[in-house]
Amino acid sequence: MHVPKHAIIAWMAVLDRLLTNDRLVRMGMEVVDKCWLCGGHSETRNHNFSECGFSRGIWRAILRLCCVTREVTDWDGELGWAVRMLNGKSLIVIILKLAWSAFVYSMWLERNARLFRGRNKSVDKLIFSVKEIVRIKLRGMIWFSITVGLMLCNYFFLVKTRAASWFKACASDSTCSLDDLIMVPSIAYRTGRFSRRPRIDLSWEALPLGFLKMNIDGAMLSNETNGGIGGIVRNSFGKCLGTFSLPVGSGPPLWQN
Ligand SMILES: [Zn+2]
Repeated sequence: MHVPKHAIIAWMAVLDRLLTNDRLVRMGMEVVDKCWLCGGHSETRNHNFSECGFSRGIWRAILRLCCVTREVTDWDGELGWAVRMLNGKSLIVIILKLAWSAFVYSMWLERNARLFRGRNKSVDKLIFSVKEIVRIKLRGMIWFSITVGLMLCNYFFLVKTRAASWFKACASDSTCSLDDLIMVPSIAYRTGRFSRRPRIDLSWEALPLGFLKMNIDGAMLSNETNGGIGGIVRNSFGKCLGTFSLPVGSGPPLWQN
């Protein structure tokens, strides 16, 4: 799973083929020799994507979003870490690969925007754009998630994405966009046939300290040919510790539950 334009820029960065200042100088061109991200260093591939304080802070924040706590090092160190760790098809590897190539792409885009158009994005906006790229790419994936997986789901809005996708599938007459539903789920009740239903507000009941609560619910087509279940585990503070959802096939709803 990758985004082609991100993968191309990331691959060019790995090969050191992006036209950074040091390469332009070697090609005999005159350049303003500074890093366009921090303004305080000569621009090289290694500086732009790992040694620059600006991009290093963003990559560190993205790693934290991915539940990876490690100190960001220089370019060779980061590349060596990626080669060693980003193998396989686990959720964390998929997300880290997407996040890294989105990070490299976003840094290069930001560098070009500053250089050619004089436009600056804030650190927060750049981190948000990487999160959005990962979220949109992962939209619709189904998995059982616990601890790390659940934190990733929360960070990248995946739980909200799935709830919003479910609503869009149920309410074809709704005019809400998927993105609006993800950001403000309550608008689901303002359009389409759902707006004509009486709204029932439910609240979660707190548990005695140290207890966990698991809520499970399922749904089945009226002809009992297909259905699914989902559940959530929370601690006594209401903090979500894990969720799951999966198809259960055909059969009587009671038996499936
Ligand atoms: Zn810099």
